[in-house]
Amino acid sequence: MRISGVISLTGPAIIRVPKSCARCGRLFGAMGREYTCPSCRQPKAGSNLEPVSRQLSFRERQIVDLVREAKANKEIAAELCLTEGTIKEYLHNIFRKLGVKNRTELALRRETDLEYEYTPPRRQIG
Ligand SMILES: [Zn+2]
Repeated sequence: MRISGVISLTGPAIIRVPKSCARCGRLFGAMGREYTCPSCRQPKAGSNLEPVSRQLSFRERQIVDLVREAKANKEIAAELCLTEGTIKEYLHNIFRKLGVKNRTELALRRETDLEYEYTPPRRQIG
């Protein structure tokens, strides 16, 4: 068969082989020398700074800051215009993320232990 000048786009070039991702282990269709799945290749904000499980949100950091000032949930709630219940939920998440059991343990954490992701809350405008 005579080959024309048109290059076929369905040739071997786009064949994807199943590979398990080097980062998450999930199977994905790999092209060429790809070794991580598409979702692992997408940069996530802050993911290069600290493990995801230890990341605190801006709000959580604010709460940690207030807990360290020995403030009660009620005071923290008033300061952040949230309910006490919400503060408790936040604290629960913070304890889990930082691997502490309670607010005392959180407050007793050496400053350096929290520094990996701890930045003082910035004053929000508005
Ligand atoms: Zn992956």
